[in-house]
Amino acid sequence: MQPPKISNRFRRKAGRKAVEARQERAEVKDQVTNGKLYFFDLFSDTRKSISRMKLVDLLQSVPGIGKVRAELILERTKISPSRRIGGVGHRQLELLRQEFLLMKNSPKTGKLLVVSGPSGVGKSTITNHLRSDNRFWISVSVTTRPIRPGEKDGESYHFVTGEKFAEMVTNNEFLEWAEFAGARYGTPKTPVFEALSNGKNVILEIELNGARQVRKNSKDAIFIFIEPPNWEELKIRLINRGTESEHSTQARLDRAKEELSAAAEFDYVVVNHEVERSVSELVSLALR
Ligand code: 5GP
Repeated sequence: MQPPKISNRFRRKAGRKAVEARQERAEVKDQVTNGKLYFFDLFSDTRKSISRMKLVDLLQSVPGIGKVRAELILERTKISPSRRIGGVGHRQLELLRQEFLLMKNSPKTGKLLVVSGPSGVGKSTITNHLRSDNRFWISVSVTTRPIRPGEKDGESYHFVTGEKFAEMVTNNEFLEWAEFAGARYGTPKTPVFEALSNGKNVILEIELNGARQVRKNSKDAIFIFIEPPNWEELKIRLINRGTESEHSTQARLDRAKEELSAAAEFDYVVVNHEVERSVSELVSLALR
């Protein structure tokens, strides 16, 4: 059988398109190298020339990644060396983000800040001050505890049932999770990695056991412990808060003693005499 005839006009047109696509790819790679475009932005680029680009080629245009490192990243993430940008799935993208976090001096990677300390010490009041500061991103945890008056689902927490929480644990969706005063609390992994790889300094406001889990898995995180000026003050604040049942308040007081004795495990201790001062101490520790 004769192969279909291709007209010269069609051939010229196809040739021009291929040249244009090559130019577009070369431009994009240059922009990634010069820091004008961010690697992860290209996965939402709908141009055919870009979605057909090989992932390994794009990886090599990232400052600090050469041929060997690019291959190593593909090997670790188990992504095929022939994978093209348009064929990279959500899960693979998440693995790539994790790889970028592991890279020292990755240009736009933010810091992971773990803020811990006993319940009632004022952690959320302090971190809430940084919500409008675009250098920071405050993680929103998932919890099974009942919603308090004034709280909004998706803002202070994502409130879920015990079943949903268990499903998220099974699906390995948490960076860390722990039980606290009769409820479960966990940090969803993906938004944290996304924010870090977008250059945000991410704040996790979590209790001691969660902080210990992060310590095990993330060597570069900064651990900050918030301490009350004294025990009496913490006790009064917890009791007067009036948000918890008597049982939950007692559980929190019991846990507070245990948490306070763990302050030495942290990189820094901030004594919360006054919120504004604690906020600026936290910022200077984060940005040093
Ligand atoms: P509360 O019920 O008062 O909002 O929080 C109780 C405790 O759970 C606080 O010490 C808070 O920092 C902690 N917490 C909040 N979210 C998380 C989380 O995602 N993981 C862990 N381990 N602790 C959390």
